[in-house]
Amino acid sequence: TLIDLFESFASYGERPVFVDRTGVRRLTASYAELDRRARKLARLFAEHGVAPGDRVLLWGANSSWWGASFWGILAAGAVAVPVDFMSERERAETIAQLTSAKLVLQSRYKLEQIGSRDFLFFEDLPYLVEGLEPIAEIARPKPEDAAQLIYTSGTTGNPKGVILTHANLVANLASVNRHIPVVTPEFTFLSLLPLSHMFEQMGGFFTPLSRGGRIVYLRTLKPSALLEALAEEDVYAVIAVPRLLQLLKTSIERQLAEKHLTGAFRELQKVAPRLSPKLRKLLFAPVQRKFGKHFTLFVSGGAPLDPDTFRFWQQLGFRVLEGYGLTECSPVLTANTMDRQVAGSVGVPLPDVELRLAEKEIQARGPNIFPGYYQNEAATQGAFTPDGWFRTGDLGEIGADGWLTIKGREKELIVTGGGVNVFPDELEAVLNRTPGVREACVIGVDRGGGEEVHAVLLLDESGVAPETIVAQANRQLDSLHQITGYSIWKEPEFPKTTTLKIRKFVVKEEILKGGA
Ligand code: ATP
Repeated sequence: TLIDLFESFASYGERPVFVDRTGVRRLTASYAELDRRARKLARLFAEHGVAPGDRVLLWGANSSWWGASFWGILAAGAVAVPVDFMSERERAETIAQLTSAKLVLQSRYKLEQIGSRDFLFFEDLPYLVEGLEPIAEIARPKPEDAAQLIYTSGTTGNPKGVILTHANLVANLASVNRHIPVVTPEFTFLSLLPLSHMFEQMGGFFTPLSRGGRIVYLRTLKPSALLEALAEEDVYAVIAVPRLLQLLKTSIERQLAEKHLTGAFRELQKVAPRLSPKLRKLLFAPVQRKFGKHFTLFVSGGAPLDPDTFRFWQQLGFRVLEGYGLTECSPVLTANTMDRQVAGSVGVPLPDVELRLAEKEIQARGPNIFPGYYQNEAATQGAFTPDGWFRTGDLGEIGADGWLTIKGREKELIVTGGGVNVFPDELEAVLNRTPGVREACVIGVDRGGGEEVHAVLLLDESGVAPETIVAQANRQLDSLHQITGYSIWKEPEFPKTTTLKIRKFVVKEEILKGGA
């Protein structure tokens, strides 16, 4: 169970585990401190009536106290219910109700408390545990007991509570560590994505913790603050989503343009693949230095990474390791390897994970697959095939080398009037690199007689006409996969999930209402 992992913390003693760069001062905590804090928090939670099996809402931003609280909840034998910091009060309230949460841990910034539920502010925890005796006896859950409940991010609507057991999480952690055996105690991670999301929790929390690594927390995604932290903290790796890698790429390109270096940089990139690693390193050193001495690895997942962004980082000498997973799978199913990274492929199944394609749908089996949705028997039934495989709802292809490529989500597949299948992901990648586009979202709009391939465009300031954008994109697409309609998105941003995925069903609703 995860309790075994928790019990290993004490053996790292005074080795630093958390660095908070979230407030005015930079604060650090050691593994011994984490052990102590979690045991004190377990006592505090018990004093607030939390008993084994009870649910506790963790509604806060990434920080060392989020981390300590997570372990405090498990040490008390309770079940953690992480809710994204950015969530509206209504969502937190709904989840608190659905899970009958006994206690809510929330930030002072979220002033409105949830209903009549007992709550504590994260900001007060350091004072509240002062003088408390750490519990000596920690809970002994069974492997099949729930460790946490995570409500999915809601890209396709209807968030459902995913039950993840101790056994699920421990199994996926072991698989990740075997597949990507790079983490050592010298390893520093910058944790940017919300810990309420399984992708960051597995890659940026459990993995470093299982190896005695160090985790740095920031409160901003601003590229300048990010680069500063990378260099100052000697960061080795960052878990990212494609959108973050794209934004960071744009920021570097802008800095080069300001110094009139764009042309020189492009030329360098062109010749880079033919250069020896040593020479490449030397040539790109000025850009690399911005990332600090040890920065090596971007892990990307959660959404498709476009090949342009992948190559940009690879040419700079960084590894970009793309993985694929879902909350229901704790979350990782496949990943590229440290020896081989292929643009556009999500790699091979992790050890202990089995995959199959059934009419192109990716289906999975393994110890990391969740037992079901919380109090939602109908959804659980629909998620598994009669012979017990988990249906991901994603469509994929396996290459001759056995590597998997994600084609898109079954639900988002557009079937045109001519009966042709169009995957929005491919079209979005083309549109996103067309001048004039800040971001594009492609949906199917049915006006009777099959779906229209509809591009919703968020334009940049360049003033390129939308007809020109669509025409230019269509020239790069084959005749069966053309964009046949478009709208302009007038808001400054698309509605997004916490992992920066476009909430397509919301966009579609707006378009159908004629609102964009
Ligand atoms: P909801 O289930 O509410 O719609 P969600 O699907 O965004 O939310 P997550 O578990 O966060 O829930 O995301 C899993 C999905 O993300 C996968 O089903 C897949 O469609 C997509 N995904 C994850 N990694 C990749 C990847 N590397 N390439 C393409 N798609 C990916």
